[in-house]
Amino acid sequence: MSRKALKAQSLRPLLEAVRSDAARMVAPVEEAGKRLFREVETVEAITFDEGNTVWSFKEFLFPRAETLFRYRLKNTGIELEEPALPEGETVIFGARPCDAASVALLDAVFAPGGRKMPDGRVEPDDPFYPRRRAQTTIIGVSCAEPGPACFCTAVGLSPTGTLGSDVLLTRVGEEYLVEASTEKGERFLEQYAQFLTETEATKSEVTAAAEAKIRRTDPVRIDLDAPLPELFKSARLEEMARACLGCGACAFICPTCHCFDIADEGNAVSGSRCKFWDSCGQACFTMHTSGHNPRPNQPSRYRNRLLHKLRYIPERFGVHGCVGCGRCALTCPVNMDIYEVARAVEDERETRL
Ligand code: SF4
Ligand code: SF4
Repeated sequence: MSRKALKAQSLRPLLEAVRSDAARMVAPVEEAGKRLFREVETVEAITFDEGNTVWSFKEFLFPRAETLFRYRLKNTGIELEEPALPEGETVIFGARPCDAASVALLDAVFAPGGRKMPDGRVEPDDPFYPRRRAQTTIIGVSCAEPGPACFCTAVGLSPTGTLGSDVLLTRVGEEYLVEASTEKGERFLEQYAQFLTETEATKSEVTAAAEAKIRRTDPVRIDLDAPLPELFKSARLEEMARACLGCGACAFICPTCHCFDIADEGNAVSGSRCKFWDSCGQACFTMHTSGHNPRPNQPSRYRNRLLHKLRYIPERFGVHGCVGCGRCALTCPVNMDIYEVARAVEDERETRL
């Protein structure tokens, strides 16, 4: 991993150069009083304030709605047309380390790269995600002011962590420490070398100061060795999950959630097959055509969400299922908080042991 320094006043000129070289740039902007990731035409549109965005940049890798193919019935048969993806490089600037870390999971799910399933079959890549991902550079910015709901350190991450960022900028005094953690990041340092200088600076003090501001620090995890039947019978989980309304807001705001639905829109002559974000917390998600629903009530659906994030994903992919951004706790209309629920479930287990 290479590291350089960037003078604070050189950040905008650097981003202007990046903006003009890339086909598109995505960055935080202020819109209707909210901080959101949007495609920006100019660097002036970017907001550099501390704090995280309302939602992550996930939709630029895994769109909320996406056409998989269009079909048209012709005299000669059915004609299928695959939509073209935008050409050229996308630069995502301003990703906080929690959001950047979520990409490790999206990669594992949508670009398994030949990984084998337990039955020996090879998991297929998503037809579009790997291409979007290959033409995306992520410039992360360390988080100096974690919010009240943040708990990235409780899931083993850090407000200055490099996981998922090709390049990470950390403000150290009047400079930014610029760390490259991927080959793409190394190429970035070479391409924009005229803005950068050598440095011996470290971010250890900045890291310690930022981590000290995180208020929710107890480890959030579900023991990978805990027997699943025991977790399924957790009285604390059942009791807390009864409050869940199944609205799906926590899933739609989450940087790591990746459930989707596929629907055909059109008629017998023409139309399209589309993929949409979905949520396992909603009652119809597992509903069978017969009417049978294997997760028949809200506690069973919330339990799936919790265990999926903290048990099944780490077990299956070895990556973080929850990056501790705290957005779901801030968004839930009935104050369900994955940090509190996971802590309660683990406390209940430890009491029993
Ligand atoms: S936990 Fe909260 S936000 Fe998530 S589905 Fe339940 S009520 Fe909605
Ligand atoms: S589950 Fe909640 S805290 Fe964890 S990554 Fe998703 S939105 Fe953030």
